[in-house]
Amino acid sequence: MKTVLILGGTGEARALAAALTDVRAISSLAGRVADPKLPEGEVRIGGFGGVEGLIAYLEAEHVDAVVDATHPFADRITANALAATTATGTPFLVLRRPGWPPEDDWQYVDSVAEAAALVAGRRAFITTGRQELAGFTSGVARTVDPPDPPNPNLQLILDRGPYTVDGEVDLMREHRIEVLVTKDSGGPMTAAKLTAARHLGIPVVVVRRPPPPRAPIVETVAEAVDWLTRGSGAG
Ligand code: NAP
Repeated sequence: MKTVLILGGTGEARALAAALTDVRAISSLAGRVADPKLPEGEVRIGGFGGVEGLIAYLEAEHVDAVVDATHPFADRITANALAATTATGTPFLVLRRPGWPPEDDWQYVDSVAEAAALVAGRRAFITTGRQELAGFTSGVARTVDPPDPPNPNLQLILDRGPYTVDGEVDLMREHRIEVLVTKDSGGPMTAAKLTAARHLGIPVVVVRRPPPPRAPIVETVAEAVDWLTRGSGAG
């Protein structure tokens, strides 16, 4: 039986693991979240130890193909996976959901730090994750686990999607939110806040994605399954 390594931490990675019934699929998680949503099947947790560690893992487990289904902003593991699969000659595919279609009230920036500078002094609803929150001066941060390091200037909501539009509208009203800050994560899991912001006339600051890797990229789980069964040589 062929072995496929899925680099995960996303809903797409979990869906891919569930869809792969005819191969040995190993899902890999970074171990950042204390209580992760676990994919079906075989799971390993924790970093590999850079490119060298990943090469050693691919060889030890006789991995026939790697699908990078990590979050669009997890660019270090993606770069490592590209380097390791190139070194070992392992077929490599990136599964990346598309970003959200831009809207008129959205302003794009290149980094979370730039977003923080832009919204300084306004009551921001910050949904960019638990890292890189140091630059924000006011507002509410929503994270899965507590921010690292903590930022005493921010109110904190610990929660995990999916969210509803009604819930997001209530939350933004309750906290008198003036601006929403988000990464261009894409996908339906966290899109309700964008609909809610549009509904309330609240502007949105969107952090652009890092550049895509120089590797084959698909946008859907079905395309990844198709690549694995037909195109990668691992089917
Ligand atoms: P990152 O900066 O790209 O990666 C940092 C290091 O974490 C990597 O060098 C690797 O360590 C380890 N790592 C990351 N993803 C891994 C995986 N799936 N399996 C094993 N090791 C992994 O990653 P990040 O932005 O901190 O994200 C960490 C994880 O959270 C990712 O799996 C991603 O899918 C998920 N996530 C990230 C975001 C986000 O906004 N960045 C949002 C939602 C979910 P070694 O070098 O030791 O191998």
